[in-house]
Amino acid sequence: MRIPVLADLVDVFLPRICAGCGEIIHNDTFLCAECSNELAVRRLPAGAALLNGLPVVAPFEYAFPVSAMVTAAKFRNLPRIFLPLARAMYEALAEAGLAGYPQVVVPVPLHHARRRERGFDQAQYLAESIAGFLDCSFLPKVLRRVRATPPQKRVGRRQRMVALHGAFGPGRQAVEIEGRRVLLVDDVVTTGATFEAAMQAMLSYLPAGVLFLVAARTPPPSDVPPEDPIAGKGSLDLPEEQS
Ligand SMILES: [Zn+2]
Repeated sequence: MRIPVLADLVDVFLPRICAGCGEIIHNDTFLCAECSNELAVRRLPAGAALLNGLPVVAPFEYAFPVSAMVTAAKFRNLPRIFLPLARAMYEALAEAGLAGYPQVVVPVPLHHARRRERGFDQAQYLAESIAGFLDCSFLPKVLRRVRATPPQKRVGRRQRMVALHGAFGPGRQAVEIEGRRVLLVDDVVTTGATFEAAMQAMLSYLPAGVLFLVAARTPPPSDVPPEDPIAGKGSLDLPEEQS
């Protein structure tokens, strides 16, 4: 007979904690009933929005409890918390009529130093899950983080653009995006500056188009039109001007 080790006992007896409010829960999900309801409230309307002219699909507004889930996943090193978010991202893509759009799925990479301190790369985890749902190629090495940028949640788009200039370079899989429709995945988008910097690094490899998918977004009101102008397909070619 195998003697139970401490890990087994911990797994059985350790109460789970809601990733939103921290309450003890007794189910297999990551949210209590109240936070689950709150999550449903944060659901954005179906379709793609434009952020600085770039099409972005996001299931959720970046607010509680999504913000708490992202923080919990990162700092408690629990990537599984991202699984329900990955599923919601896939559903948002399908609801926008865009599940057939991507041919390859590419994560926005973390700098390796950041990944080392965190233990996992959230965008890579999300992108790989979504590539699985879509049954298309997952290409984690298209982009390379050339240098780490400090977290800068409270600065504007222009400052972020300056800080992120040259933050990404092409990785060894960059040649594989030529002529293909790319789904670029990150956990959260705020100003869109990260996506613009990532686009800069990919443009010379001539993708057929790029669509962005995130778990949550905080749209600057002036950038996002109230109604989605490009929910239809066929208008997702790369924007011409990339300054
Ligand atoms: Zn809760």
